[in-house]
Amino acid sequence: MNHVDVAIVGGGPAGSSAGYTAANEGADTVVIEKGVPRADREGLGPDSTDAAGILDYWVDIMDLAEPIPEHVKHRELDAAEFIGPTKTLELTDTGIDATYPNFGFTMHRAGFDDWLRERAENAGAEYRVGTSVADVETDLTGAPSHTLTLRDGTEIEADYLVLADGPQRTITGQVLERWLPDDRVEQLETRRTNHIAYQEYREMPEELFEGDRIKFWWGYMPGHTAYPWVFPNDETAARIGLTMPIGLDIDTIENRDSYRLLRPEDERIPKGRVYLERLIETAYPGYEIDDFPILEDRGKSRGTETYPISSTRPIESPTRANVAVVGGAMGATSAFHEGGDHVAVRTGSIAGRLAALGAMRAYNAEWHRAIGSEIRRNCIFADMVEGNEPDDWDRLFGLADNIVSTDGIQPREALYDGWAGTKLFAEYTWRKFGYRRGRYAQVLEDEYSI
Ligand SMILES: Cc1cc2nc3c(=O)[nH]c(=O)nc-3n(C[C@H](O)[C@H](O)[C@H](O)COP(=O)(O)OP(=O)(O)OC[C@H]3O[C@@H](n4cnc5c(N)ncnc54)[C@H](O)[C@@H]3O)c2cc1C
Repeated sequence: MNHVDVAIVGGGPAGSSAGYTAANEGADTVVIEKGVPRADREGLGPDSTDAAGILDYWVDIMDLAEPIPEHVKHRELDAAEFIGPTKTLELTDTGIDATYPNFGFTMHRAGFDDWLRERAENAGAEYRVGTSVADVETDLTGAPSHTLTLRDGTEIEADYLVLADGPQRTITGQVLERWLPDDRVEQLETRRTNHIAYQEYREMPEELFEGDRIKFWWGYMPGHTAYPWVFPNDETAARIGLTMPIGLDIDTIENRDSYRLLRPEDERIPKGRVYLERLIETAYPGYEIDDFPILEDRGKSRGTETYPISSTRPIESPTRANVAVVGGAMGATSAFHEGGDHVAVRTGSIAGRLAALGAMRAYNAEWHRAIGSEIRRNCIFADMVEGNEPDDWDRLFGLADNIVSTDGIQPREALYDGWAGTKLFAEYTWRKFGYRRGRYAQVLEDEYSI
């Protein structure tokens, strides 16, 4: 049986970043990636499904030792547009101090992942792609040790285990359920905790293509944090996608006539493909879906891709067992703005480094310190918009123009906006208090019976 210091399950941004820092600190490291075929990559690599928009301050959160290379980027951004049924909010500043000079950028996600993999390999990590981890057994008698069994029958023994298998938690779920009470395990069940995301790569008519902004439509489809988007790629290509809760029942939706992407004849929630067709007709009147041809040479399946996305609050890790859960597997992606690459890179980097230094016990404190304010803000915003109907989005965008920055709701500006602004500020402050000292975490370390 092979023995390594650090074994990492999953080779996306979180896993590759863990591989890089662990190897960089001199640990014998292996990253095991199942391997997903994509039209935009030769050979197998990580899943790489993503709208791939990065905001300026996210680059600082990633805390990479070198800049993201230009060849990975598609577009520099100047703005984000949030389009409600009648009101639109345009943000040209994220409102958070950042060293990146522009509002943000969009990137080639497979290219980004390949770059992160290359860094890990150059640092000395082995990146094993093409066979998945089928099982992990942990022996806690004495110093913890983990035996990973791969689908091809290979066994690997590791002192430290980093779980970076993304929001589906195929292995994370298996490992954690041994140490958590049943009700906690149930809470982490992926159909309950994840959203589903669907996107298409489409060529846009040149006159409609806006290369400097990402656009989101809120209040157009029912469900908590359910929304479509358009992200500009290279030339006039765009990723047009959406996210929505899994298993939403159309019969539970009140005021369904108010959602512009629902139709009276819908007997169930439309499929992603249908929603996007309706978005194009609604957002670009006078155009038809055929004016936006699908780019079949991109993505996972002829120009389309479907993937779950964590929509939950993050979990702490059972570090006493020398296990760290990172990135999408720990629930660090925000359902509010879909962003997750930055927190995946950062949590992976922290976990890999601490594993190599034999200091895994510090992982939970370290990730709270590094990404806590980002997670807390996202959890508060997601909670505040729960139950919003289309009219509420218009009201919010009308107000938010003045008082909301990504750094939160600004007190003085809120006061200027009268009662509604003050109420919003009060709610924000109250929720912020509720999530103090890491209380946004869904599972705390003490809950693991280790
Ligand atoms: C449609 C969509 C749009 C998004 N848009 C953005 C965006 O614009 N900006 C942003 O920052 N974030 C965005 N996100 C979120 C972002 O993609 C995630 O936060 C990020 O991918 C998390 O990285 P990760 O490494 O934790 O997980 P993943 O990228 O999911 O990687 C996990 C890897 O583990 C592998 N794996 C799984 N199980 C096993 C196993 N048993 N054995 C071996 N390997 C395994 C998978 O193949 C996969 O490659 C988006 C997500 C989706 C789905």
